[in-house]
Amino acid sequence: MKGSIRLFTIFGISINIHITFLFLLLLVLPGGIRWVFVISSIFFFVTIHELCHSVVAKYFGIKVREITLLPIGGVSSMTKMPEKPSQELLISLAGPLSNIIIILVFFFPLKYLLGPSVLFHPLSTLSWPLAFAYIYWINLMLAGFNLLPAFPMDGGRVLRALLATRLGYQKATKIAVNFGQVFALVFAYFGIVRFNIILIIIAIFIYTAASSEELQVDIKETLKKFKIRDILPRDFLTINGETTLAKVLELIFHSHQEDFPVVEGSNLVGFVTRQDIIINIHRFGMETKVKDIMRIDFPKVKDTDLLIKAQNIMQDNDMRALPVMRNDEVVGIITLEDIGKVYSMVSQRT
Ligand SMILES: [Zn+2]
Repeated sequence: MKGSIRLFTIFGISINIHITFLFLLLLVLPGGIRWVFVISSIFFFVTIHELCHSVVAKYFGIKVREITLLPIGGVSSMTKMPEKPSQELLISLAGPLSNIIIILVFFFPLKYLLGPSVLFHPLSTLSWPLAFAYIYWINLMLAGFNLLPAFPMDGGRVLRALLATRLGYQKATKIAVNFGQVFALVFAYFGIVRFNIILIIIAIFIYTAASSEELQVDIKETLKKFKIRDILPRDFLTINGETTLAKVLELIFHSHQEDFPVVEGSNLVGFVTRQDIIINIHRFGMETKVKDIMRIDFPKVKDTDLLIKAQNIMQDNDMRALPVMRNDEVVGIITLEDIGKVYSMVSQRT
């Protein structure tokens, strides 16, 4: 996510902190060490919450690349969406559930140690006992807020998953998105009336995130209707292992192609992308041969595969082009731009 800084990596997931979080930390610094403790606790419990989503997602084979921590919660970027509603349901519940478990574990010890008068009056001046009472309040807020059925918050995802079992993914998403947008408008209203900037930010976040996810789902549904061969460009260039990087660069400039299958006779032996070419020209020079830098292990698709499959493979492998095969022979290259074109054509027609 833009404006975030990588902190550390855990379970192969990069944990990033959004700049607004650091801003908040600076803001409370004059308030003393107790406020820093409270903000750090928010940070800690948001991380736990997001990691619980990620662990369940991982169990279903969904890679989570990074978690961005915002003061209002975290955002996990998954390489793909869960395929079954039941998976989305469990992934979405895992986060708030972690906060509920923390509440259950801490509630009685905190009530016993701090006394109910401290635990239930979080707005008096911040003493150390009160700072600890925030463990309870933070988790209560995280659980409660995320469980609102305001898509794309966790509760909204739970709603979509439940609707999807009966209505299908696309219709369920539309309804959940409408819920999200109504919540966003309500938040915006109260944000403006009460001059609460955080509520306004949340409203904008929910509104834009809900709309963009609706678009994502529409794209996916469209891509399920087409096979790769339906849109595969007819013309494409192949290169062989002896070609120099200088020559490939020239091909990139003179054709519309930026990624090339490397062939030996009619056998596909490698694949190079524009990125590979640029990086390796910097590293080894223009006269380097393709065979010395090409990818040998790379995903491929068949021309009879659905477009959605090509897109999923690209996302999983962080590639923007794939070689397309028919009976062990390369018959073309499919790129993210090709997929994008299909979508813009279909969305203009409707
Ligand atoms: Zn969550």
